[in-house]
Amino acid sequence: MSRTIFEKIIAGEIPAETVYEDDQVFAFKDANPVAPTHILIIPRKPIPRIAEADSDDHSLLGHLMLKAAAVARSVGLEENGYRLVINNGRNGGESVPHLHCHILGDRPMKWPPG
Ligand code: AMP
Repeated sequence: MSRTIFEKIIAGEIPAETVYEDDQVFAFKDANPVAPTHILIIPRKPIPRIAEADSDDHSLLGHLMLKAAAVARSVGLEENGYRLVINNGRNGGESVPHLHCHILGDRPMKWPPG
């Protein structure tokens, strides 16, 4: 399968504003923000979507969630709160087939989401 734009961002072939990285995950600012703060956090491993993760990914997914919260804290979202979103497949609104968690903050979020 061809490499996604997010794999190219991880490889430094496409520029992005990095917010956090370690050996397992990479976080960067979303190019088309839908909130005043909009960061994506992704596993370095190219899992297409959460539905295709498996039991080997147990620890990686825990790390991804914990680091999403740590990134949110690091950019000052903890006090007022924030939303984490994972879009899966066509009805979920997924547009890039590399698992990513949106970190959205600095505005009140509506429920239910659109
Ligand atoms: P989703 O619709 O859940 O698949 O989210 C994909 C997200 O990737 C969207 O919010 C896009 O704005 C974002 N995106 C696409 N290309 C880039 C890029 N080159 N740099 C940063 N964010 C991007």
